[in-house]
Amino acid sequence: MRIHLISDQESHNISKELILFLNQYFRSDLVKFFIVEDTETIKNIPFTWKEIFQTIRAYTVNRPESQNDYFLYIMSGDNEFSWFAAQDQNDSKLGFVQSSNWELYDGIDAFSGTAYHLLAILFRMVFFGNLNESQHTYHLESKGCLNDLVLVKSQVIHKLRSSYICHACVDKVKSSGRLTTEGLELFNGSLKAISEIRNRLVKVDLGQISNLLDFSLITGEENEMIICLDDDKISITLSRGWKSALYLFLLERNEGLDAKELLADSIGLIRLAQLYAQVKPTQTAQNALAILNEKIQYRVFHDFLDQTVCAIRRSLNESLKNFPELLDQLTIKTEGDLRLIELDRSKISSKHLRAA
Ligand SMILES: [Zn+2]
Repeated sequence: MRIHLISDQESHNISKELILFLNQYFRSDLVKFFIVEDTETIKNIPFTWKEIFQTIRAYTVNRPESQNDYFLYIMSGDNEFSWFAAQDQNDSKLGFVQSSNWELYDGIDAFSGTAYHLLAILFRMVFFGNLNESQHTYHLESKGCLNDLVLVKSQVIHKLRSSYICHACVDKVKSSGRLTTEGLELFNGSLKAISEIRNRLVKVDLGQISNLLDFSLITGEENEMIICLDDDKISITLSRGWKSALYLFLLERNEGLDAKELLADSIGLIRLAQLYAQVKPTQTAQNALAILNEKIQYRVFHDFLDQTVCAIRRSLNESLKNFPELLDQLTIKTEGDLRLIELDRSKISSKHLRAA
């Protein structure tokens, strides 16, 4: 399967980027994307769908060797019905994708928006046919599926951030009779590519996290911390015990924790013991304080703190390995004798923590 990307001048750079991105996900002998270089012949950006598909067809007529190939026009500007991408009414080999206006959609960059819709429309062309044949396969309600036909901003953002194909659509592909060796390659490669697009979008959000993060700590049955980002939830589990208690303690202390100072800070020690009893209800704060005092008496308090901090870091690294920006804010940092979490405290809500 060969797919030619034709682009207008404004979309030329994006098309080059798309080729590099897409060809990583497909075995080149089965599915291959090409860029059509002679794009300067396009003088006026077409607006009506008729003009758009005529422009694409003009390329195909001079390429009889490409009669089984797919042609996608990557274009900037608007089109008459404001669709992000569409296939030709009668010819399943022709489609277009809009590369512009993505600044209107929060957190979605032009490359991700274009790449996603390119894969979505190609998927439809290959498995469902031309627009007349495939009209009924669109979801007119938002499901987060590749085949959602939605215009409302929040639903468009939801579709890209979900980046999945629903079971009903997978069943349609299976029964289409088009899952040939090439079809299967396109199917699997597209899934991997849209999952990478999703990862990039989530990372963009996390990069801009300072004003967006709604961070809540829940230490319930499983003693889980849940980080909420819009509709996404990332959970981190620290064991119910000293790890959780010390982490909560550090979250409460904007100024961090100096192990030497804590030895002489009875109020601090009591607070740590209280937090321990909260996350481990089988223990009383009295018992917890006795355990801490024993560690101080036997001079193992520093080791105990260091080991617990290391264990917390390991848990955080494991849970947040795909979210480096978030890990940076949530991990415990060391500055000399000081251990601290640099997170902006206004983002935390937890039933266990004192009001900041
Ligand atoms: Zn679907």
